[in-house]
Amino acid sequence: MKKSDCLFCKIIDGEIPSKKVYEDDKMLVFKDIEPKAKVHLLAICKDHFKLLSEMDGERAELVKYMLTKIPEIAKANGCENGYRLVINQGDDAGQTVFHLHIHILGGQTLGW
Ligand code: AMP
Ligand code: ZN
Repeated sequence: MKKSDCLFCKIIDGEIPSKKVYEDDKMLVFKDIEPKAKVHLLAICKDHFKLLSEMDGERAELVKYMLTKIPEIAKANGCENGYRLVINQGDDAGQTVFHLHIHILGGQTLGW
């Protein structure tokens, strides 16, 4: 898939609307359109890459940056009591959007 066909790149570019809760030069966090918990946010990096398995040093720095920012963003958005981070890798995990994203789930006690 070309970057120009990527749903999350279109959200980054503002071509598709989203409910943004945080944005800076490296990452964007917005509300999942089909929430699986009371709070369900998606954190994406502004650089397009498809899969966790495409990780390299530069991308690892981006993911590290996101993981560093997520605690304050989660806390500010109703996850004061804890949250779960999920990255789906590939088909068996049910990955549907092939632009690396971290699910932030919380706002309630989560089942497994
Ligand atoms: P994944 O299954 O890990 O690839 O997650 C993709 C997520 O993107 C799903 O939880 C969808 O509900 C969510 N999603 C799809 N389209 C949109 C959209 N336009 N705005 C916000 N979230 C979306
Ligand atoms: Zn993309």
